[in-house]
Amino acid sequence: MMGYSHSISAAAAWLALNESGIIRIDDPATLAVTTLAAAGAGMLPDIDHHNGSIAHSIPPVSRWVVRLVAKISGGHRKGTHSLIGLAFFWVLALSANRLTYAGVPLLALALAGFAGGLALRTFRAPGGWAGALVVMAGTIYTNSFATMPWAILAGATAHIVGDALTTRGVNPFWPATLRPLVPSPLWRRSGYMALPVLGDAGSNRENIFSGLLASYVGLYALTILGITHLPPGELISQFISDR
Ligand SMILES: [Zn+2]
Repeated sequence: MMGYSHSISAAAAWLALNESGIIRIDDPATLAVTTLAAAGAGMLPDIDHHNGSIAHSIPPVSRWVVRLVAKISGGHRKGTHSLIGLAFFWVLALSANRLTYAGVPLLALALAGFAGGLALRTFRAPGGWAGALVVMAGTIYTNSFATMPWAILAGATAHIVGDALTTRGVNPFWPATLRPLVPSPLWRRSGYMALPVLGDAGSNRENIFSGLLASYVGLYALTILGITHLPPGELISQFISDR
């Protein structure tokens, strides 16, 4: 999946978790800030990609970090795209949250600001440093420190699921390689697993899928802004029941 698709699917996943009641955020500002963080975290697993958005985000430091992560995690679509990678991102976000309550909010703010700034840049909104600062200020204003680790985890999980929908797939059990008895495109001899309904990364199918998710996020944004009163899922089910 491409960066934009990852961000939009992560934002959609976070909003869907909220709409379905699995996560409950009633305050619109908190929902907006955490959605931006989730969208940015949707690109986090590609911190192993030398030519990805993260590598280009804060040069030259980001390039060094990416090189180091790729070395530790075995290369692209390996460690950071596995259950271990998810656990790492989760622990990182959780530690940042704990530090905040110990009086040191710097790591949590840096994480939220970096993710949010990255998402804004991907969505072609004013991103970069200004976007990061706005998200940091938003995190403080809405006091969404406790919710951030969940947003980060949801975003990173959406990334791995997204890559699993493309031909190349992922190996969720890295560094272990579980080989199938009968290799197929769903579970290859390399241990990579996929449900390749979107075809190759960047395919037309992926673009259509991202477009649908973007419509969901856009409709939800109207709810957050108070323009519509029902989130998209409810709006559609009401529309259907009215027929
Ligand atoms: Zn990826």
